Amino acid sequence: MAIKEFQAESKRLMDLMINSIYTHKEIFLRELISNASDAIDKLYYKSVSEGVTGLNREDFFIRIEADKDSRTLTITDNGVGMTPEELDSNLGVIAKSGSLQFKSENEKNDADVDIIGQFGVGFYSAFMVSSKVVVESKAFGAEKGALWVSEGLEGYEITETDWNERGTRITLSIKPDTEEENYSEFLDQYRLSHLVKRYSDYIRYPIKMEMQRSRRKEGSGEEGKEPEYETYFEEEILNSMVPLWKKSKSEVTDEELNNFYKEKFGDWQDPLRVIRTSTEGAATYTALLFVPGTAPYNYYTRDFEKGLQLYASGVLIMDKCADLLPDCFSFIRGLVDSQDLSLNISREMLQHDRQLKLIAGRLEKKIASELKSMLENDREKYEEFWRSFGLQIKYGMYEGYGAKKDELKDLVLFTSSNEKKLTSLKEYFGRMKPEQSCIYYGCGESAGRILALPQAEALMEKGYELLCLTDDVDEFALKMLEKYEEKEFKNITAEGLDLQSDEEKQHTKELADENKGLLEAMGKALEGKVQEVKLNAGLGSHPAALSTQGAISAEMEKVLNNMPA
Ligand code: ADP
Ligand code: MG
Repeated sequence: MAIKEFQAESKRLMDLMINSIYTHKEIFLRELISNASDAIDKLYYKSVSEGVTGLNREDFFIRIEADKDSRTLTITDNGVGMTPEELDSNLGVIAKSGSLQFKSENEKNDADVDIIGQFGVGFYSAFMVSSKVVVESKAFGAEKGALWVSEGLEGYEITETDWNERGTRITLSIKPDTEEENYSEFLDQYRLSHLVKRYSDYIRYPIKMEMQRSRRKEGSGEEGKEPEYETYFEEEILNSMVPLWKKSKSEVTDEELNNFYKEKFGDWQDPLRVIRTSTEGAATYTALLFVPGTAPYNYYTRDFEKGLQLYASGVLIMDKCADLLPDCFSFIRGLVDSQDLSLNISREMLQHDRQLKLIAGRLEKKIASELKSMLENDREKYEEFWRSFGLQIKYGMYEGYGAKKDELKDLVLFTSSNEKKLTSLKEYFGRMKPEQSCIYYGCGESAGRILALPQAEALMEKGYELLCLTDDVDEFALKMLEKYEEKEFKNITAEGLDLQSDEEKQHTKELADENKGLLEAMGKALEGKVQEVKLNAGLGSHPAALSTQGAISAEMEKVLNNMPA
């Protein structure tokens, strides 16, 4: 058969494909493995729906072989295969997806066909790393196999082949290395096994590779003899096949979850909490989330990138999908697996974010409720969490509006004058005196300093509790919240703290009138430094204190002045 040219459109698309659609060359492996998995799924589906006997799920496999000498990489599957006509139409026309067709044909039968392919371009990503691609394939039930070969843009040829096994074998001639690009890495067994783990770990069929290993020859290295080594080969299954998050809760131990977290997200510490959730309906997804124990070193810097891993039907699409996490929960690590995402053509991004927004919204609520239950039922752990990430929650409250504030207000803790322990607003509220009209707070460098403020003493004498705000964002966050259970927040150094009874007030007024001259003289002496000198009976044992007028406290003013313009 003569060389067939790709259709003109295909040629242009192929050029685009090879040069610009994908950001990482390495994903070619993901694409070819996904195709192999689709091919097995199709055959498996056939076997079930048409009652074909003699096919066992356990017999299906995908195999990878790398040969450094011939610079070839081979990917074999024993799936449904392709007839010569299918080779022509599926691989000769770019953007024609046999898989999409299969899916639409079979979806009518109400089958749950979880097939990955849909755009008909993934296969061509092989040309990003290959100078030549050979596809040998024998369709299920066919007599003979056929061979498809192409060296890229020029076209392809279909001929006969001796290869006579059901399924498809794709042989890539890996390009020679250039100064800019290293292609040889795709012939390295460790690199390949790493790529399989990274992108295709949850493909449901075993992905096998012969690993070359070395061992000491028996008897060598003993009794003064030189150690000698020999190489041997061992077949390994590279993928774990069943995602941990797809197993039922009773099948997975806490230890497995902790190890999974540590391995996947590079933490040395167990997570404080594991959140598992799956939903069906408007958005079908499974999420496995972790609350880490400590913040990564760059957490509070611009370098930190938030996001969850995103899988589509078990294949990794994105490593850090930022849209899935609100900023206030940016510390969460984990993943989301969904089969109904609209992916763009490179499968590196999502087409529409409606689905994603829906998932993100639900996850946010779930995270908030899990943190709340942690606060209520596992106080010690929550406080550990709070020390690492409390600041972020407070920033979230400051930046939040509407529902966000409500979501966060019961997650916030402050050190309180009550035994100097951390307290939530709810707990503070529960301890309020019947006549107490406000939630009191003071600001300063440390709880110790705040509790030593003159106004604090008077407040505590009354039996009122005081929140100690020691982070810059604290007072801003409370101002955003405005009220908690209809109780206003009040800075104890603000003017008009109003702790006195009417009688006491009357007495203070009389004293002030009597000493009018003195107060005026003091005001004169401090002119330019203070606005007014007033008598204040609410200072406990202290003779004097500073207080501020207006909505901005002295501490807030300090923070605002220190902010970069
Ligand atoms: P997609 O997977 O999005 O459909 P691809 O470009 O990756 O597009 O593949 C094009 C088509 O080629 C597939 O839809 C499928 O019909 C066929 N194909 C590719 N690889 C295989 C394979 N290993 N076995 C059987 N058919 C295959
Ligand atoms: Mg594909």
